[in-house]
Amino acid sequence: MTGRTFHPQDEISQEAVGAALARSWRDERVLIYLSGDLGAGKTTLTRGFVRGLGLKGAVKSPTYTLIEPYDIDGKKVYHLDLYRLGDPGELEYLGLRELLEEPAAVLIEWPERGGGWLPPADLDVRIAHEAQGRAITIEARSETGEQMLSRLADIPMEAL
Ligand code: ADP
Ligand code: MG
Repeated sequence: MTGRTFHPQDEISQEAVGAALARSWRDERVLIYLSGDLGAGKTTLTRGFVRGLGLKGAVKSPTYTLIEPYDIDGKKVYHLDLYRLGDPGELEYLGLRELLEEPAAVLIEWPERGGGWLPPADLDVRIAHEAQGRAITIEARSETGEQMLSRLADIPMEAL
């Protein structure tokens, strides 16, 4: 499977990677896993994703609510943070099954906490701290993921 790595040196560049990912999305159902330690920049990347779609308002971390829905001119995005999920079975109450049937982008922080309840990702995003900034590796895990990655390759991001 195809993969790509970026080295954003600051928060602005981290958001830029998220925005580029949003530009490679064609409103189809896509499940994106965001892995990395606390403070890696998962929420920052997601903020770039929704702002890249044109959201003007605040983007808060769904640390306590677990899920934050967005509708940006009809484009649906769900941002989940499963860090505080007590039991993977709670995903059922969040309506996960239903929202995964929508043509939405679903970005999930701490997907490993979902146990076996999450379907496999289309894109696996792994973020690691570097001496300065972060390393973001994006790997495709499905045909949809492959298509997004190939569009991503066409988006100019010289600084990253
Ligand atoms: P997470 O959601 O993974 O816990 P956050 O997105 O909340 O992490 O980011 C944690 C901190 O790291 C924030 O202060 C953010 O500004 C900073 N940050 C994010 N990406 C980068 C980067 N590429 N370089 C330097 N700092 C970053
Ligand atoms: Mg976060």
